[in-house]
Amino acid sequence: MIKKIMTTSLALLILASAIFLMLPLPGDISILMYHFAGSEEESSKSNNTITLQSFKTQMKYLRWFRYHVISMEEYEQIHLKKKAPRGREVVLTFDDGNQSYFTEFFPVLESYGYPSTIFLISESVKHQSNGSMSEEMIKVIMKSPLVTLAGHTKTHPFLTEVSPDPLKDEVMQSKKDLETMFGRPMDYFSYPFGDFNELVMKAVQDAGYLLAFTTSPKKLKHLKESLFSITRIKMGESNKNPVIFLAMTSGIYQNFKRWRQSLR
Ligand SMILES: [Zn+2]
Repeated sequence: MIKKIMTTSLALLILASAIFLMLPLPGDISILMYHFAGSEEESSKSNNTITLQSFKTQMKYLRWFRYHVISMEEYEQIHLKKKAPRGREVVLTFDDGNQSYFTEFFPVLESYGYPSTIFLISESVKHQSNGSMSEEMIKVIMKSPLVTLAGHTKTHPFLTEVSPDPLKDEVMQSKKDLETMFGRPMDYFSYPFGDFNELVMKAVQDAGYLLAFTTSPKKLKHLKESLFSITRIKMGESNKNPVIFLAMTSGIYQNFKRWRQSLR
C-alpha cells in the first residue's frame, strides 16, 4: 500500500515537473472562465459553480506556479503585438456579473492583487435580477484598478437564435446602457453560452467591441479563432488537483482541445 502511494506520488511529481517545463511559450496566454461561487452541493450540480475554498486554492496555485495574472487591457496589448509578453501570463474572467463575485471572488482577488474582467448582463444589472450584482455594488468594485467591466448582452440569449434587429439590440444597446451606467467604455464582450456565428461576430464588431470571447474551442465549429472568437478555459471544482490545474492553465489542455477540434 505504502509502496503504491509512493509510486503514484513520484509519477505525479514527474508529470507535474514535465508539465511545468512545457509551460506556455510567451504569448500563449490562457484565459480562465468562472461564473458563480457556491456551496459544495451547488458546485456538484453545476460545473459553472465553484466553492470559495477551491477558488482560493486555484489562486494559490497561480502564485505557486509563478503566473503573471494580467488585466484584459494588457492581454489586448500583447494579443495585438503592441506589448511584449513576459511569459506565463493568465487572464481571469467572470461571466454574468453574479453577486458572488462581489461577496466571494473579489475579496480573494484583491488579497492577491489579481486583475479580472466581469462580463455583465445589462438588464440583469438594471433590475438586479437573476442574481446579478446591483449597479451600486459594481460602482463599489469598479473603484479598484483591478476590475475591468465588459459586456455580455442585455438578456443573455443564444445569439445565433435571435433575428437581426434583436441581435443588434442585445449587442449594441447593452454596450450603450452599461457605458451610461458606469461612465467607462465597454471594449470587451463574451457570447452567452459561448454561442456565436459569423453574423453574431459581425454585430459585435459593428457595435465597437475590440475583442470577443467564446468558451470552448468546440464553439468555433468551422471558424478560426480570431479577435472576435477567442476561446477560454472553463474552471470548476474538478481543477483542485495541482497537476490538472497546471495542465489547464499552461495551455496544454487548450491546445489539445484546439487540435481535436481541427480534426472535425
Ligand atoms: Zn453568461
